[in-house]
Formats: sequence, structure tokens, C-alpha cells
Amino acid sequence: MSGILVLAEHEDGKFKKTAFELIGKSTELAATLGTKVAAVVLGDAPAGELGAFGATTVYQVAGDFSTYGTLKIVAALAAVIAQDGSDVFLAPTTFTGRDAIPRLAARLGTGQGSDCTDLKVDGALVVARRPMYAGKAYVDVRITKKPAIFTVRPNSFGQPEPAGGSAEVVAVQADLSAPDVELVDSRKPESEAVDLTEATRIVSGGRALKTKENFDGLMRPLAAAVGATVGASRAAVDAGLAPHSDQVGQTGKTVNPNLYIACGISGAIQHLAGMRTSKVIVAVNTDAEAPIFEHATYGIVGDLFQVCPVLLEAFQKELGTG
Ligand SMILES: Cc1cc2nc3c(=O)[nH]c(=O)nc-3n(C[C@H](O)[C@H](O)[C@H](O)COP(=O)(O)OP(=O)(O)OC[C@H]3O[C@@H](n4cnc5c(N)ncnc54)[C@H](O)[C@@H]3O)c2cc1C
Repeated sequence: MSGILVLAEHEDGKFKKTAFELIGKSTELAATLGTKVAAVVLGDAPAGELGAFGATTVYQVAGDFSTYGTLKIVAALAAVIAQDGSDVFLAPTTFTGRDAIPRLAARLGTGQGSDCTDLKVDGALVVARRPMYAGKAYVDVRITKKPAIFTVRPNSFGQPEPAGGSAEVVAVQADLSAPDVELVDSRKPESEAVDLTEATRIVSGGRALKTKENFDGLMRPLAAAVGATVGASRAAVDAGLAPHSDQVGQTGKTVNPNLYIACGISGAIQHLAGMRTSKVIVAVNTDAEAPIFEHATYGIVGDLFQVCPVLLEAFQKELGTG
């Protein structure tokens, strides 16, 4: 086994949590395999910092990656992989992970396991577990071609503490001049909250909220009190209670938080498809037979218009967020 290479994503030079999660897990796998962990950084970010989390080499590709370009990213990653020769390449299931990484796999003529939620060592291989059939079943993916590529759902692993190691930073030149997809427009999200797909806590509201005023008046303060990002069911989005960017589920976003509070959401299969890997699920619903309770860690059978204000007050008091 000749190493594990991790895509360390950053935003404006600040590494995303997924970079540390993937390097931390890779360090664990590499210890079992008797190999090393390398990372790749595209553009301007403090690459050497990743050494403290377990990367021994960090490849840094110079260039303007501040605007998204699929082919630019593929060219840069292909150049690093050619130089590094790792057997396994890991990237997060973010926009880049969904868009550029399959193209990279095709260019390298190798296989990819997408949106995995666990990684383990089996013999000399890294094997990935991924949900399928809307999360009803799991499959273990073995890729024998090199490099085996896996994209990994954010929040699948804990974040390692920095341990004080250092990394050799290697500058890699890549030809980024090929014509790329044309960027027509780029907008920052209106909310300052962590993106749903990377959020560790989510407060989600359903059709039962009835009006946008109720949704904004109950879900948003509750989310603020627990440091969560707001999510919504499709029924809530279709009714205009929340924007589509907040939708969780099969035709919305796939989330994987440590805490998912579902208020007035029935737990339809299409909603579960987007959130059932959440570590702790709290459901508030008047119907004790609602399907969401089959997946909930904690269930509150009650009217959300009465329960949510009580939860809000309790969280504000306990967490000092009032
Ligand atoms: C192709 C396809 C894709 C889809 N994609 C998605 C998707 O991405 N995401 C998604 O969410 N859905 C999706 N759906 C829709 C999905 O099937 C459900 O219709 C939707 O999830 C229902 O949303 P809901 O739970 O908010 O509403 P409902 O199913 O109407 O449930 C409302 C719940 O609120 C409870 N309730 C009512 N009043 C109160 C109260 N006062 N207090 C507490 N509880 C109360 C009720 O008991 C009920 O369980 C999709 C459907 C299809 C066909």
C-alpha cells in the first residue's frame, strides 16, 4: 500500500472541517496499513498546518481556484495523483466531490465509491461503506484499481485534535489552461449559518408549521439557540415556508449532523433519504404513529406550537444562548 491522499478543501484559505475529518480517519487507516497520509490543497491556503493533523506531505497546486471550474480541478488533482502515486484518494461529498471527482475517476480510468459514510481496512485494501436505496441498506465498496477513489459524507468522522506534527509542502505545477465550464453567476448564500450538508446540528420544520411566520418565528430561534442550521421538508418548501436551499431529502440536500431536530415532519421515505444517517434524531409530532418516530432517538408526542417554545427556553437557559 503506497499511501492515502486526501483533498483538503478550504474556503478563502480557511480549511473546511471535512479536511480534518478525512485526514484524521486516514491517519487511523494508514497506521493499520503501515503507510502514510498526504493531502492536496488547491490554491492559496496554509498547507503546512495540515501536518499537525497527520499529513506527512501536502501537495499545493498554485492557481486561481477562487471561482469554480470543473476541468481546472480535475487537471490539478490528476497532476498531484500522478506525482504522489497513492493507492487511495479521498474527497468530501461536497459540490466538488459530486461534480469534479467522478470526472477525475473517469479520466484516470479507475473506480469511485460515492457518498460513503465509513471506511475500514480489509486486508491490503481500504473498503468503504455507503448507504443505498434511500438509506435502507448499506453496501461495502471495494475498488481494486489504483487509485481507489471515495467521496465521504461530511460529519462521518470526528475531528482530530492537532498533535504537533509537521508536513513537507510540495509545490505542484498543473496545466490549468484548458477551456473550462463557463461560470455565469455566483452568489453567496443569504444565511451566515453553516451549510446544511456540513452542519453538525440541524433544526428542521415540516408542513405542520403552516405559515412562513410560524416557521421563522419558531424554527429559526430554536436553531439559533442550539447553534444549528435550519432545514425543512419538501412540503414546507412547497408551501413557501422556507427556501428550496433549506430542503432536506431525496430532492433536497443529504445531511449527516450529530443532532437533527424534526418538528412536524412525518418522516416520509424521501425525507428520511436525506437525514437518516443523523447520529441523534429528535422528533416532535402530534401523531404517535408518525414514521419519523421509528428512526428517532428521542420522540416527543405533542403539539410543536407548545413544545418548541418550551425547548427554546430550556436550550437558551442551559446553553446560555438567550
Ligand atoms: C419524487 C419525490 C421526491 C421527494 N423529495 C422530498 C425531499 O427531498 N424532502 C422531503 O422532505 N420530501 C420529499 N418528498 C415528499 C415526501 O413524500 C413528503 O410528502 C414530505 O416529506 C412531507 O413533508 P412533511 O413531513 O412536512 O408533511 P406531512 O407528511 O404532511 O407531515 C406533517 C406531520 O406533522 C404532524 N403534525 C401536524 N400538526 C402538528 C403539530 N401541531 N405539532 C406537531 N406535529 C404536527 C403530522 O402528524 C404529520 O406527521 C418527495 C416526494 C417525491 C414523490
